[in-house]
Amino acid sequence: MAQGVWTIAEQRDGEIRKITYEIVSEGRRLADALGQPLTVVLLGKGIKDKAAALGQYGADRVLVADDPRLETYTTDAYTAVIAQLAKAEDPAILLMGASVQGKDLASRLAARLDAAVAQDCTAFAVEGGNLVAIRPIYAGKAYAHVTYEESWPQMATARPNVMSVNEPDASKTAEVLDAQFQLDDGELKTKVAEVIKDASGKVDLTEADKIVSGGRGMKGPENYGILEELAQVIGASVGASRSAVDAGWRPHADQVGQTGKVVSPNLYIACGISGAIQHLAGMGTSKVIVAINKDADAPIFQKADYGVVGDLFDVVPALTEEIKKIL
Ligand code: FAD
Repeated sequence: MAQGVWTIAEQRDGEIRKITYEIVSEGRRLADALGQPLTVVLLGKGIKDKAAALGQYGADRVLVADDPRLETYTTDAYTAVIAQLAKAEDPAILLMGASVQGKDLASRLAARLDAAVAQDCTAFAVEGGNLVAIRPIYAGKAYAHVTYEESWPQMATARPNVMSVNEPDASKTAEVLDAQFQLDDGELKTKVAEVIKDASGKVDLTEADKIVSGGRGMKGPENYGILEELAQVIGASVGASRSAVDAGWRPHADQVGQTGKVVSPNLYIACGISGAIQHLAGMGTSKVIVAINKDADAPIFQKADYGVVGDLFDVVPALTEEIKKIL
């Protein structure tokens, strides 16, 4: 019978990513609810020294797959290794982040394991010893409670920045084990030749803790400087509505929404954005939403925790100055 909760860690350049701590913490809560152990699978090259610390967040065991071919994520290598490990141990639940990597890996892995996967979940529960994965549908207007029929592992991905991270407990350690796997070069159809990093050094929107976003109310690309300045002062990334992207003011990578990125920062400041349902679908789970709009009836105010009715060209620079004084 399938047993245990597994979470797949995410690392980049040998550093554990924040989403890993979120899913390990959530995995701990599910493992406690089931009375089963929590295993974290960590893949990479020379990353074993990072494994023990995952115990502080709740891992009972860390399976480390160390191989130069796992240094950088590729779908086929990661799928091959995790599928082998999962087939050997038969976990009941398998979780990963709904990051670009996690979503890609989850679908391929689910096919390989003949399992069902619920993507981009915002909450989980355990009922009758089984996972219930809760995910937004209809652009966030409703939540589906997904259950699994006679299919293991019960797989899901968790939206970044939604699950709370356990306070690390330095007295807790995980058992660190070398994973036993075989990786044939013939199986690997892709090879990472080079990694070209975003020269701006900007934090990807899906992982940003704070986002300042601008819409059609920005009036032109030349005006984004005031958002960049506010973002720099508070340590945020800059996003945009689709109107701003379609107008060519911002790159598509900055688009938040149904056909852009789904983000869930602790703070989302929407400037000159009306709050169309397709935009809300991408940022509605943000912890604190601030809206700056000159139209008091703009729908964004119904979703916002704090609203400023005013001209953003007055409000944003004044806000930046005030925050600078405080900081
Ligand atoms: P508008 O709706 O034009 O709003 C501009 C706002 O700026 C207004 O509320 C106005 O009052 C305010 N404003 C103007 N000047 C000022 C000023 N000086 N100071 C303060 N406020 C000012 N949209 C997305 O954002 N993301 C998506 O992923 C997305 N996907 C879509 C998918 C589909 C299939 C469809 C049909 C649409 C999608 N859209 C998406 C588009 C969406 O419906 C809206 O058209 C879009 O979000 C509107 O962008 P906006 O709020 O910037 O512009």
